[in-house]
Amino acid sequence: MKPETMAIHSGYEIDPTTKAVAVPIYQTVAYAFDSADHAASLFNLDAEGFRYTRIQNPTTAVLERRVAALEGGIEAMCVSSGQAAVNYAVQNIAELGSNIVSVPQLYGTTHTLFAHILPSQGTQVRFAQSDRPDAIASLIDERTRAVFCESVGNPAGNICDIEGLARVAHQHGVPLIVDNTVASPILLRPIDFGADIVVESLTKFMGGHGTTLGGVIVDSGNFDWAAYGMRFSAFTEPDASYHGLVYTEQFGRAAYVARCRSVYLRTGGAVLSPLSSFLLLQGIETVALRVDRHVENARKAAEFLRSDPRVEWVKYAGFPDSPYFPLAQKYLNGRACSLLSVGIKGGYKAAVRFHDSLKLVTRLVNLGDAKSLVCHPASTTHRQMSVDEQRKAGVLPEMIRLSIGIEHIDDILEDLDQALAVAVLAEASTAGNA
Ligand code: PLP
Repeated sequence: MKPETMAIHSGYEIDPTTKAVAVPIYQTVAYAFDSADHAASLFNLDAEGFRYTRIQNPTTAVLERRVAALEGGIEAMCVSSGQAAVNYAVQNIAELGSNIVSVPQLYGTTHTLFAHILPSQGTQVRFAQSDRPDAIASLIDERTRAVFCESVGNPAGNICDIEGLARVAHQHGVPLIVDNTVASPILLRPIDFGADIVVESLTKFMGGHGTTLGGVIVDSGNFDWAAYGMRFSAFTEPDASYHGLVYTEQFGRAAYVARCRSVYLRTGGAVLSPLSSFLLLQGIETVALRVDRHVENARKAAEFLRSDPRVEWVKYAGFPDSPYFPLAQKYLNGRACSLLSVGIKGGYKAAVRFHDSLKLVTRLVNLGDAKSLVCHPASTTHRQMSVDEQRKAGVLPEMIRLSIGIEHIDDILEDLDQALAVAVLAEASTAGNA
């Protein structure tokens, strides 16, 4: 099936008992056992079925199958937020004393997790100087457990060379984990280019309406955990925390997500509620249509801003002179994302005035909503970073990030235009007073 069709049908067959066409919301905590033997076989992970909603739920299971299909993976596990997905995906693979190698252009909270929280728990994260595969390769050693990147960085807008990163990761016997939030599987399927694990915030384009938090971890099923001796022994040796289960023996290619569920979702508990799963499924039904409009509107907004003399610069991978243009052709099929950043003439003060003067475009920290959104990353999403860390992550003090929505483009442009007028008029009068 094509993505538009998968987004509506994958993972659900009309309920045989009720004939419900929409995916039912199974608002239940637990599931009845036929007998002690039945319960034991479920807890042994021998039989298929549901035990307790912290571990699996039928509504969420549809969402998991649907996103796995869209991303081209064999299995997926949903969690309560994109951040929980990033956290569990890395914890599932990194033991005490190991390290992860990451590109520097990351969402601010992921940077905080990597720079402060994981190290405090015994996993170091090595940030490369750039997102180039050679910069990553030089940091990998025998204690490395994964390479991490965002397919399209938030807010830098850099596009990672997934194939190149997968190549260096695999040359060193480690998997590539890709956060695909900004691109969404409609624009890019990292697994098609060699990624092993995909994480995603479903809160953004997938849900699409700014109502529901959610995250997902998708397993490509392609990484051979048993091929590297004891390096990934958590998957290949008996798990003392789960009565000696060996994940690769019991689950084969799906060992990674199976362990993540049995260990991290079960004990960490960042579970997605069935109602949230239902709402996210509603959003996903229209994700392909919405992304088409997002992309088209973003191109028009980027062109409008770039041709305006009040604007200093626009970072948008759809411009042929963008350093990321060739990667946008290869990985996004020429359809640059609807996240763009802009610098206003007059620097930081003008940028803040532009930001504060927008009327239709909403000031908040989110992206991928149907509504157009604006934020100032240096003072919000990336505030916890030092100025140097911000610069490496592609965050400049005067940078304004726009997530272009699906309203009529004329209304979006009119709002950008009036906010530019306010920003520049105030700038001129300040200069006059001086
Ligand atoms: N990954 C990226 C690239 C993001 O932009 C975000 C949030 O903005 C997240 C992960 C975290 O997602 P959530 O807000 O659903 O926890």
